[in-house]
Amino acid sequence: MEKKYVYLFSEGNATMKNLLGGKGANLAEMTRLEIPVPTGFTVTTEACNKYYEDGKQISPEIVEEIKASIKELEKLSGKEFGSAQNPLLVSVRSGARASMPGMMDTILNLGLNDEVVEIVAKLTSNPRFAYDSYRRFIQMFSDVVMGIEKRLFENKIQEMKDEKDVEFDTDLTADDLKELVNRFKAVYKKQKGENFPQEPKVQLMESITAVFGSWNNARAIVYRRLNDIPGEWGTAVNVQQMVFGNKGETSGTGVIFSRNPATGENKIYGEYLMNAQGEDVVAGIRTPQPISQLDEQNPTIYKELIDIINTLETHYKDMQDMEITIEEGKLYFLQTRNGKRTAQAALKIAVDLVEEKMLSKEDAILKVDPKQLDSLLHPAFDPEDLKKKIAVAKGLPASPGAACGKIAFTADEAKERTEKGEIVVLVRQETSPEDIEGMVAAEGILTVRGGMTSHAAVVARGMGTCCVAGCGSLKVNEEARTLTVGGKTYGDNDYISLDGSTGNVYTEQVKTISPEITGHFGIFMAWADEIRKLKVRANADTPRDTKQAVEFGAEGIGLCRTEHMFFAEDRIMAVREMIVSKNEEERIRALDKILPIQRKDFIEIYEALEGMPATIRFLDPPLHEFLPTSHEDIKVLANQMDLEVDELTATIESLHEVNPMMGHRGCRLAVSYPEIAEMQTRAIIEAAITVKNNKGYDIIPEIMIPLVGEVKELKYVKDIVVKTAETVMTEKGVRLEYHVGTMIEIPRAAITADEIAEEAEFFSFGTNDLTQMTFGFSRDDAAKFLGAYYDKKIYEQDPFAKLDQKGVGLLIKLAVEKGRATRPNIKLGICGEHGGDPSSVEFCHNIGLDYVSCSPFRVPLARLAAAQAQVKNKR
Ligand code: PEP
Ligand code: MG
Repeated sequence: MEKKYVYLFSEGNATMKNLLGGKGANLAEMTRLEIPVPTGFTVTTEACNKYYEDGKQISPEIVEEIKASIKELEKLSGKEFGSAQNPLLVSVRSGARASMPGMMDTILNLGLNDEVVEIVAKLTSNPRFAYDSYRRFIQMFSDVVMGIEKRLFENKIQEMKDEKDVEFDTDLTADDLKELVNRFKAVYKKQKGENFPQEPKVQLMESITAVFGSWNNARAIVYRRLNDIPGEWGTAVNVQQMVFGNKGETSGTGVIFSRNPATGENKIYGEYLMNAQGEDVVAGIRTPQPISQLDEQNPTIYKELIDIINTLETHYKDMQDMEITIEEGKLYFLQTRNGKRTAQAALKIAVDLVEEKMLSKEDAILKVDPKQLDSLLHPAFDPEDLKKKIAVAKGLPASPGAACGKIAFTADEAKERTEKGEIVVLVRQETSPEDIEGMVAAEGILTVRGGMTSHAAVVARGMGTCCVAGCGSLKVNEEARTLTVGGKTYGDNDYISLDGSTGNVYTEQVKTISPEITGHFGIFMAWADEIRKLKVRANADTPRDTKQAVEFGAEGIGLCRTEHMFFAEDRIMAVREMIVSKNEEERIRALDKILPIQRKDFIEIYEALEGMPATIRFLDPPLHEFLPTSHEDIKVLANQMDLEVDELTATIESLHEVNPMMGHRGCRLAVSYPEIAEMQTRAIIEAAITVKNNKGYDIIPEIMIPLVGEVKELKYVKDIVVKTAETVMTEKGVRLEYHVGTMIEIPRAAITADEIAEEAEFFSFGTNDLTQMTFGFSRDDAAKFLGAYYDKKIYEQDPFAKLDQKGVGLLIKLAVEKGRATRPNIKLGICGEHGGDPSSVEFCHNIGLDYVSCSPFRVPLARLAAAQAQVKNKR
């Protein structure tokens, strides 16, 4: 059978969303349910894809199908395109599989031309309405289809209002509007060098083409990237007979939600306006009425409306967002869809629908977008106050939440000023590990450089601190302690506000509010936990983060980055001493100072976990990251260590690497300096024994060796771990089970995972490094050029945020297979940033990992995503 590219509303249904788009499928479904829907047809998403395949042309066979459908539409409506008796007017609207509000194009009143407008004026006895519709059509068609600037038309309207000395569009008479139509057509001719198209079929083909084209406009591409919508879906186009809400006092238009989209309250919520078209409501010229008012104005229609809303909600088993038009006393539904809602509302509605027996728990789990949960866990800007503010710059929304405080230019300053009770936002060129205390102290973090997995972003997400990264339009002069943006310069006494969910930056105070976690949240998450199979752990490095993670429902720690413990004031000196040691003896002396501190941290972490497992990773970053950089700091350190400044400077220089990310880091450090591995093993085992003795928790330490690429290097480090652990256990007279495993974060490790699994008792996929090394671009620098890749549609998503399943994912699958072949019960997890991304969590579920691990603030998201993966997979 020939492929069909156009469907009448009567030929489709709600299950055909992929082909007809959300709007088209629902229009078809409503038609099937005999709800009053103006008739029409849908040109499919496949036609859109074919349009692009054919070099942005609608192929002749599809043109033929559209023409045949117009004939059908004419038959069904009893009207005809361009007819002198009963002309047909249509709207043309986009409609993708997922709703993308306002991202693509719409054209109303299509079919009007110089003759038809006269007929409409006569038929309706309302010339004002006819000319107003025509001028709106010319304006929309010119803007959307022909790319003529809207402004040119708006100027003409203003001119006309000035000439007539009136304030509102609605004050213009039929004659004024008729004249305006002439002026609009003149603008069109001047811009395009030809007359405004009079033939409705030409108007229609041009409009359909424009809607297909709008699938790839800049804002749609950005929206897709933010909402994980693949470009290959394409958009459908809906051609629908027009009904008019602006035909007088018995006509009107409205937007209605079947429940409150802000709170979730089970009560119809919406607004309407009599004698108006949809855009009048939006334009805000007149104030719409609450929908309950309609009951007084027209109880018959109100009753019909309520009945249909109930039918639709019961049918779709979800809160509906509907557009209605009343034309001369007759009610029409132009659209229904599952309504967008706040996180609070989403949870309340999901729980209520289960209690109302409309949904099963499994169905309810699918109704909440995991990414939305985040907004419940962080402070947010007061939406009312935010409306009054204008952002001065935009960076990457690296860690959600809202922050407002005075500017601090260094980490030390942030720490000091916070200790004195000030609230500060840390503003840096980029952050480095030595900024950690300032980052902990600051209300928010703003950096000029760096991407979504840059140091600042990872650390901020881990701490749940709001962060905007890679905000390239800012100029930060750390020496002069100034921030320049939009031509103005700010100092440490000025306020700055960051929105970590949008990346917006404001150089003024914005009020924040702490959102409440209501009872529905707990009920809902308990359901998710009942359903999911994948365990969820957290990436946590400190006792504080661990407690937070446990509060958010983590079932253990999947990654404890021990180096993050090294930067606190009480230990950095000992760490530096270890690094600049000239021989083993000196190094051991320094490590002996670090041992008790590490042990204490591990004891506190184990206690916070109350017996849940923890994977502790050995030191990972290149050593030079711990060293002081400014001359002043070097002097202080030399002094304290009794070294010559020159000598210390030379040591620091000798540690410099051209490409540190691929340099002396990870297990390579333990291969060069086995003493470090010995100390860390001792701290871990001793801590576990202490907590076992004191608290009775049976802890099974999981020691993780990072950045392994060759089984022999893993074996070398593992032998040190085993030898040290045995010594410690003999010393203490306590036996303890423990595991040694590795991270799979170098492609070679994935490829040789069968060999690696001979030594590793578990794998944890370090997808930050695995992505970096598979793509061959730096996780800290990629943000600088990825923008160009999105614009050129080479990549749709940041591979550091959303797992590249085709490439990196294939390596993971390979490693899973090979690892299990050698060691069938090998434990498998992921601890890269992707462990907190919903689609990546689904991937991990599908390939059979045991757990995902992510920053504490993403734990609820991962729990929900894991439950959704289970439900989807089962179906
Ligand atoms: C990784 O590489 O994915 C990982 C978790 O380790 P890090 O981010 O510390 O390099
Ligand atoms: Mg790594």
